[in-house]
Amino acid sequence: MYRVAALDIGGTKMLGGIISEDGEILYSEEIATCAQLGRDAVIKNMLHILKQLLDNVPDVKAIGVGTTGRVNVNEGTIYHATDMMPGWTGVDVAGIIKKNFGLPVAVENDVNAMAIGEGWLGASKDYNTYLCLALGTGVGGAYVENRHILHGRHWGGAELGHVLLHAGGRQCLCGLKGCIEQYISGTALYKRYNELSGENIKSAKDVMERLQSSDKFAKIVIDEFTTDLAYSILSLNNAFDPEFFVIGGGLIGSMKLWWEDFMEKLSAYQPNFKVLPAKLGNKATMLGAARLALNLII
Ligand SMILES: [Zn+2]
Repeated sequence: MYRVAALDIGGTKMLGGIISEDGEILYSEEIATCAQLGRDAVIKNMLHILKQLLDNVPDVKAIGVGTTGRVNVNEGTIYHATDMMPGWTGVDVAGIIKKNFGLPVAVENDVNAMAIGEGWLGASKDYNTYLCLALGTGVGGAYVENRHILHGRHWGGAELGHVLLHAGGRQCLCGLKGCIEQYISGTALYKRYNELSGENIKSAKDVMERLQSSDKFAKIVIDEFTTDLAYSILSLNNAFDPEFFVIGGGLIGSMKLWWEDFMEKLSAYQPNFKVLPAKLGNKATMLGAARLALNLII
């Protein structure tokens, strides 16, 4: 049975694994990305974790990478990355890995890889056309039509976090005002909480903890969040008309606190709407990258 190495490069950490042809994770490692130290540090860490993986499991045939940023998948290079990964724009990820390990390499955007992972082994296994939203530090998106990722002309297809939700609203890092990302990301939740309460909490997890102790500001924040998420999904449905939606990313970890409320709001507009939480958790991107690596050799 074939086996490949796969790596998920996020702004905070890298998760790598050796994956078998049937999707079993045979071995895995995690290290800090150290994004703020710049591109050389990130490349060094990327090569270090890959070497660890390849040293521990023999007979690996290809390498797949899912990375933050827009990716030119034909060349395996970073077309554009935000300040979350300073200096990452322009890095020839595939070239660097090939030069060091001599194996075929596939590179894809991390949310696109997540969508591929969920389609291979997770929530969207039985569907060909679906839309993924990843609710984390920001909001990422991926659209899969007949099992093909929509990349767009500048590798920014389905950048759903920057679709406008409240035009003229909150300032976004992309320059627009009122993007989806400013309302339904983890960052948006704790910022909104601080705005209402005058406190200075630093994570969506803190908002969720306060929600569990019936904090009135946390209740308002999550009520707004589920409404905005429902509106986002309804708008995106009009744009893409997928068979169904997958919602993943860090916020899905606290779904028991908000999913029912969100589904109720969604159903009020459109009953029997097909939307499911991602199944593979934080391994979805790595597994999607593994699938892409397997596609190179099988
Ligand atoms: Zn934006």
